[in-house]
Amino acid sequence: MNAYWPAPDAWQQALRTAITDPAELLSTLELPLSMADADAHSSFELRVPRALVARMEPGNPLDPLLLQVLPSAREMTAVPGFSTDPLAENDANPSPGLVHKYRDRVLLITSGGCAINCRYCFRRHFPYQQNQLGPAQWQKALEYIDSHQELSEAILSGGDPLVTPDSRLARMIADLSDIAHLKRVRIHTRLPVVIPERVTQELTEAMTGTRLKPVMVLHCNHPQEIDDSVRSAIMRLRDAGITVLNQAVLLRGINDSVEAQKALSETLFEVGVLPYYLFVLDPVAGAAHFDISDAQAQRLVGELQARLPGYLVPRLAREIPGRPSKTLLSPDQTDV
Ligand SMILES: *Cc1c(COP(=O)(O)O)cnc(C)c1O
Ligand code: SF4
Repeated sequence: MNAYWPAPDAWQQALRTAITDPAELLSTLELPLSMADADAHSSFELRVPRALVARMEPGNPLDPLLLQVLPSAREMTAVPGFSTDPLAENDANPSPGLVHKYRDRVLLITSGGCAINCRYCFRRHFPYQQNQLGPAQWQKALEYIDSHQELSEAILSGGDPLVTPDSRLARMIADLSDIAHLKRVRIHTRLPVVIPERVTQELTEAMTGTRLKPVMVLHCNHPQEIDDSVRSAIMRLRDAGITVLNQAVLLRGINDSVEAQKALSETLFEVGVLPYYLFVLDPVAGAAHFDISDAQAQRLVGELQARLPGYLVPRLAREIPGRPSKTLLSPDQTDV
């Protein structure tokens, strides 16, 4: 490992060598091959970077990192209310690759790909093919943003926007900074957690090289996802002056305990990351077995509030199609 900055292309190598064969994953972890479901794998392929597999516990079929990526037979049961477009994003898509649902910020589908396929992903059925931001679509998106004076923030999302090469990200952020009413650029990504080498010098320079204030929202669900390599990656972002927040998804059997949530907030804060949102699951087809009732989620966050300073308690939220912002669920404090 380089002392501070990783080699500029180390992350692309890690992307290419991610595990996509369930048998390889399970044999690496000394687990029975029967744990993976072939139909679930063919409907949404297994994908997990080796660096994350190294943080899984061998021999543990309930490992919280493994359960987030292993194709399971439970995904193949249709459950009423769980659909392929739970957020109705297909209706808020005025220009290809652009989603404008909340008045002051706009989401740009920078990339359809991800470094990892999370089984509960709310975009696992999103029509990325129709939403590629090629040069023509990018010009149209810029025109759209330029003509909407109310927009103050552009959010690069996906898929995972950091699957995109640094040179392209730098050009995109520079183009956005030419639009006078934009103040901030935000990147929503899971890559620094699953492939920490993704935090290159070129990336931090792209994010901090314009007048736009840079924000990164990580997606980390469990304290076991954070090791020294992730800590170093986050330190590189923080040292560069980037505001770093975290959002997580509340998942049954993975992080639905006060202990896991408390450790997640505390571990991230050690490297200067504040919790942002804790999302209840979007009702996406194939993910019903991760669902937790609102009442349980509200009790959990109520208890978390008693155990942590307020600034380390994430906002419990969900996305409801048609609302002008995320919808917050208030913590239930009656049991504390
Ligand atoms: C979540 C989301 C945002 C960002 O919302 P914040 O509350 O600012 O984090 C913006 N646009 C869309 C379409 C979103 O889904
Ligand atoms: S990294 Fe995010 S977008 Fe990609 S599969 Fe996971 S949850 Fe979905």
